[in-house]
Amino acid sequence: MIRYFLLFILLTTTIFASEVHRYRWANGETYLVFLEKNKLPMKTLYYNLDKDDQRLTEEMRSGIHYQILKDTNGTIEQVLLPLNDELQIHLYKVKDKYTFEAIPIISTTKTEAFTAKIVSSPNYTIMKKTGSKKLAQIFTASFRNSLNFKNDIRKDDPLVMIYEQKYRLGEVFSMPILKVAMIEMRHKKHYIYLNKDERYYDEKGHEVEGFLLARPVRGARISSYFTKRRYHPVLHKWKAHLGIDYAARRGTPIVAAGSGKVIYAARMGSYGNLVKIRHNDGYETRYAHMKSFRRGIRRGRYVKKGQTIGYVGTTGRSTGPHLHFELRKRGRAVNPLRVVQVTTKKLKGKEYKNFLKLKKSYDEKVELQLNTQTQYKKTSKFQNICYIHIRDEKSE
Ligand SMILES: [Zn+2]
Repeated sequence: MIRYFLLFILLTTTIFASEVHRYRWANGETYLVFLEKNKLPMKTLYYNLDKDDQRLTEEMRSGIHYQILKDTNGTIEQVLLPLNDELQIHLYKVKDKYTFEAIPIISTTKTEAFTAKIVSSPNYTIMKKTGSKKLAQIFTASFRNSLNFKNDIRKDDPLVMIYEQKYRLGEVFSMPILKVAMIEMRHKKHYIYLNKDERYYDEKGHEVEGFLLARPVRGARISSYFTKRRYHPVLHKWKAHLGIDYAARRGTPIVAAGSGKVIYAARMGSYGNLVKIRHNDGYETRYAHMKSFRRGIRRGRYVKKGQTIGYVGTTGRSTGPHLHFELRKRGRAVNPLRVVQVTTKKLKGKEYKNFLKLKKSYDEKVELQLNTQTQYKKTSKFQNICYIHIRDEKSE
């Protein structure tokens, strides 16, 4: 195994006579355009890569911050392109030769909390308090199907959020994960809890409905789970599997996981026969490796949740009949299992007992925040920071 070191380097101006430049991935920019623009060798950094690595390069999303390390002559020494919150592409030069690799992103996770008193809507209140659109969105979405903020909310009603936030090099990074949310309305406290099963429940142990998806293949076994990064023990490299694989017999019907508009129904490279459906709230589902599409399924068609759209096959880059199913939110891959559910669930028996234990400890935390009126802490930003990744080739 090749050992490598990740060094944390704070750069004030220059280091090793090299300088880190920070950029934003432009709308519509592609990895190939990026290589061309920076005069990086397309053959070694794209065309010679295996199909999996080539697929990874398609994951770059507009708005993502990335870094380039240049020497004093402006020659690119290293590039770091974050693909998601766990995996990044690392391009680096050793003796005039560039290399491509996918490496993990090192981040730290902190549990944070704050309280706020309603000024107008919860959305506005949280935005005003924290400046974070994401926190405001998460809070509002959590209670969307259970509470009526418009009619029942009063000025000065308290709310609490406890959540996990990832940090990368001192900066807020990726979506916060809500652990508990509480809002008091008309002297009654309403809660949402993240349970051990990674699903959200209210104080009675009823699952909270989010974006409800149906299972795209009925009764199928999951043969591969979603992962933003995983180390391949045989190939000795980092990969991602941005979907769920359902193993099923060739020809098994595939149904639309949610109602929406078909925006793609054709062949697409390693996906094989692919259907993309656009849903509400920026969600999109993808169904790959299909044997064939159902008659009439084409671009522009509206489909209902549960409606058959095609049949399980093994077209494209696939080793056997299965459905590769993806869920995207505004272009980013998210774990479908977090939202795929046939019916909402009420916790029972041992599960319910465990939930009550968890709830009790969460409730105590919420009370603590309320009593101390915990304020939101803004993090100060570091500038000019970069991970320098040095390979120690000798120590095999
Ligand atoms: Zn797959």
